[in-house]
Amino acid sequence: MTETAERLPPTGTATGAAIEVRGLHVRYGDFEAVRGIDLDVRRGELFALLGTNGAGKTTTLEVLEGFRARSAGDVRVLGLDPGTQRAALRDRMGVQLQEGGFVDELTVGETLELWGKLVARPDRPGRLLERFDLVAKRDTRVSALSGGEKRRLDLATAVWGSPELVVLDEPTTGLDPESRRRTWDAVQELQEAGRTVVLTTHYLEEAEALADRVAIMHEGRVVVAGSLGEIVASRPARFSATLPDDVTPPDGVELDGRTVRVSSDDLQRDLTAFLGWAAARGVQLSDLRAAPASLADVYHSIREEY
Ligand code: ATP
Repeated sequence: MTETAERLPPTGTATGAAIEVRGLHVRYGDFEAVRGIDLDVRRGELFALLGTNGAGKTTTLEVLEGFRARSAGDVRVLGLDPGTQRAALRDRMGVQLQEGGFVDELTVGETLELWGKLVARPDRPGRLLERFDLVAKRDTRVSALSGGEKRRLDLATAVWGSPELVVLDEPTTGLDPESRRRTWDAVQELQEAGRTVVLTTHYLEEAEALADRVAIMHEGRVVVAGSLGEIVASRPARFSATLPDDVTPPDGVELDGRTVRVSSDDLQRDLTAFLGWAAARGVQLSDLRAAPASLADVYHSIREEY
């Protein structure tokens, strides 16, 4: 846990939701980028907003941050309306934008010093330089940073002072594996301190590893939302096994080469039946695997359905 992080009440207490969105619409001229979405983010949870390119994720985050006006709908962030109470919200929320807005002429160290003066929450530049592996870049101008380094500086400002709510737009895009791991550590540290984190990502494995709950957007709408368990439970599980050359599979089971692949709404029932079939015939199975649906399965089926 960070030195600055005081523990907030855990999820599900009387403190209520961190974010509530009802019927949010956002238009860019004639084009409606967000088409009536509802979102609920609980305090202390990590919520991942996933979706196809152009789905409206960044637009939605910008509304939550108070940077973009909505066309319709109700939005509450930490109990405040970001459309009219952005200043009050700024003291309680850290934000990482897809494109950071730094002063090119300042060094990394100066940028963080300046940040400390602008933000009400106390923190130490040294802590963040270490956390995001920027110590060696302290005296480097922002204009000379690589893309990944800029992103890390951006993250450092977002988590400055361990705010109640941190909103991150694609925090790990373009980061090398080590920087990505550090970012995950920083996110987990915030979580351990009871903070709420909302992030977008195109890395499904990242959402699977970090998120308590996810929403998947497509063309301005939320098409799936819930905990990872709930989301994958709505999709069939799978099992597969390789059969010896001379064995014909059971009726209704198809072979792909020598491998049977079965999609099942009741994994225990269907796998038991299959193993019973193999046992009754003395069939030696190899490479037997069974797994629930993954977030990737859900995501790809959405792309096919919508
Ligand atoms: P990505 O995954 O590609 O970052 P996203 O889900 O974050 O996408 P948004 O950036 O919110 O999507 O964009 C949603 C839609 O709104 C897109 O079709 C985009 O082209 C459009 N859009 C975004 N900003 C503007 C703008 N300033 N003016 C007009 N259209 C915009």
